Amino acid sequence: MRKITPLVICKSPEEIDIMKKSGAILAELLDELRGFIKPGITTSDIDAFAEEFILSRGANPSFKGLYGFPASACVSVNEEVVHGIPGNRKLVEGDIVSIDVGAEVEGFHCDSAMTFPVGRVSSEAMKLIRTTEESLYRGIEQARIGMRIADISRAIQSYAESRGFSIIRALSGHGVGRKLHEEPAIPNFVIRGEPGPVLADGMTLAIEPMVNVGGPDVKTLNDNWTVVTCDGSLSAHFEHSVAVTCEGPVILTAL
Ligand code: MG
Ligand code: MG
Repeated sequence: MRKITPLVICKSPEEIDIMKKSGAILAELLDELRGFIKPGITTSDIDAFAEEFILSRGANPSFKGLYGFPASACVSVNEEVVHGIPGNRKLVEGDIVSIDVGAEVEGFHCDSAMTFPVGRVSSEAMKLIRTTEESLYRGIEQARIGMRIADISRAIQSYAESRGFSIIRALSGHGVGRKLHEEPAIPNFVIRGEPGPVLADGMTLAIEPMVNVGGPDVKTLNDNWTVVTCDGSLSAHFEHSVAVTCEGPVILTAL
């Protein structure tokens, strides 16, 4: 492990191999959730499924207790963007549900999220989901040695906005590794004059576009966790943990 700036921690190939273990667990979990999500289940059911799955693989749920969060999965429905607290809410046909999960193995975390349709959803909701996922892959494509964080941001923003949607400004991606949240911040939009660090071999990044049908503004509910769109429009969220390597971007949380 070496530090290339005072803050951004690069991982050795051996450390990245460990991160692949927690990443694989999250990939399998999100794949299994695709079949589990249906009208009538509660957001708590999703959390219980996620927690059991992570523990059964010998990993620890990264989110549980982090900053005081009470659950193993963040489950955010429709206009909820991120950090939804699982509870008694039942999913209904036409909802979209964003599930964000983290797992730790041998001291290293990975972080991943996906938005799922519940039964049949509107064509606009489906377009939002597909656009957000594609914007993530466009961002990942930029995660190469010598590029800058802003190249990732630009790829995400330009694709999402070209499809008529807006990018949330208030929330960003982040480095990931020994801690769930490390430097650098990875905004999903370009901040003029702030290109961010140059990407180097061994950086591990949680890239996570959050995209709204309506305006970009969000607020936090009185539960002090759930982030929602100010205009009540639908929001989607996709996230992968990615290693910057000599061979190009390696998605640690892919199947
Ligand atoms: Mg996450
Ligand atoms: Mg994250």
